[in-house]
Amino acid sequence: MSEEAQHRDEIVRFGAVLYGKNLAHGSAGNLSVRLDDGSILVTPTNSSLGFLDAERISKVSADGELLAGDPPSKEAFFHLAVYEQRPAARAVVHLHSTHSVAVSCLCHDDHADVLPPLTAYAVMKVGKLPLLPYFRPGDRQLAASVREAATAHRAMLLANHGPIVSGASLAEAVFAYEELEETAKLFFLTQGHKTAPLTAAAIAELNVVFGN
Ligand SMILES: [Zn+2]
Repeated sequence: MSEEAQHRDEIVRFGAVLYGKNLAHGSAGNLSVRLDDGSILVTPTNSSLGFLDAERISKVSADGELLAGDPPSKEAFFHLAVYEQRPAARAVVHLHSTHSVAVSCLCHDDHADVLPPLTAYAVMKVGKLPLLPYFRPGDRQLAASVREAATAHRAMLLANHGPIVSGASLAEAVFAYEELEETAKLFFLTQGHKTAPLTAAAIAELNVVFGN
């Protein structure tokens, strides 16, 4: 099986898993994978992640030109912005999962990092989570914001919308996304309780040992 065919199947498999776990609903959310030649496979516009057809997944060039398959998601442009800034990224996951979206709808004093470092895994797999301003769906101005944040962050949160998470493989990006959603859940569970997030020293140690 070719590299492209394998990644088409992988997108279908992970789409079904995310839909089955209620992390994706309706036709919301999109997944992409960057191939060795720099082109990108991305889920098509108005498709449901639970019912993808491998053959119809869109293939676009690095500048967004459709090369094969159905027309890409209206949000494909911000996947391209992430790839542009992160040469090592091979996959991007963007979903509208409930707890993360809820965090994106809160008032935050500090937009540089909107979830507390509650666990080591959140620090290792997600890192700091900046909040980007709200843009209407499809507004290309979002690309500039994403580009700026992507340079230093593998995960970011779009206000009143949801997270964008990248990784060195689709599995890595999906697992980091799941860690983020679970951290958002923990954040709400601990609201109103005295919490003890990781200390700056503990975070610095994780960054040294695990190279974040
Ligand atoms: Zn979206």
